[in-house]
Amino acid sequence: MSLALLSEELRERLKTATRAAFYLDFDGTLAPIVERPEDARAPQPVLDTLSALASDKRFTIAIVSGRAIADLKHCVGISGLVYAGNHGLEIQGPGLSYHAKEAAPSRPRMHDVLTALGEKLALIPGAQMEDKGLTASVHFRRVEASRRSEVVALVKSLVPSDDPHLVLRDAKMVVEIRPRVAWNKGEGVLWIRKALGLESAVEIYIGDDSTDEDAFRVLPGAFTILVGASDRTAARYQLADTTEVALLLKSILDNKEVYGDAG
Ligand SMILES: [Mg+2]
Repeated sequence: MSLALLSEELRERLKTATRAAFYLDFDGTLAPIVERPEDARAPQPVLDTLSALASDKRFTIAIVSGRAIADLKHCVGISGLVYAGNHGLEIQGPGLSYHAKEAAPSRPRMHDVLTALGEKLALIPGAQMEDKGLTASVHFRRVEASRRSEVVALVKSLVPSDDPHLVLRDAKMVVEIRPRVAWNKGEGVLWIRKALGLESAVEIYIGDDSTDEDAFRVLPGAFTILVGASDRTAARYQLADTTEVALLLKSILDNKEVYGDAG
């Protein structure tokens, strides 16, 4: 479905809704993917759109990311939003706070793995390890293509599939090391929905990566939107890139006087 048709369908649905919740991934969804994760920026017009949407009581805006929550807040920089960091393991927002304490027993093991990994990754140019507290990321976007599998193999050798504390998760040009707990972006979004009483809201989830599929799957009735093309996604809709995401959000903002409670 094209951006124009999706926008029209969503705006039509919002006409009969009193509340809407936007769950938005950050990297590759709001901010274009860049070589170094620390250089990622959401364009100012996108941030302005989010601020404007968030200032309307009918809308809830939640940013759901693999980044640590402090980093995520710094990247977005808008107060009053809900922030879910570390794939939903930590959530903060107005009157909201969640921190997965089940992850604490994994921390010593995580520390040992990262120490060993840091030494070995130092020998692979471009490999970047990021300790995000509750989870860690090993980025290999800047590693020479012929050596990327070496990075993945190295991480797998340190975190075997039967590791009692940690589990690996592949994403775009990154291997995520996570505590072995039954929690992900999908669980995080369901927690936000319940905490804010959003059960009857129109829900929109936009994300670009395999970790967003966890959320797509638990939101069968939502406008689930994958950024990028794939024929193996649980999302109901697809948009081409971050520019189309920005245009969709702007079109919703620009038409908000016709929605639900607008009076
Ligand atoms: Mg992403």
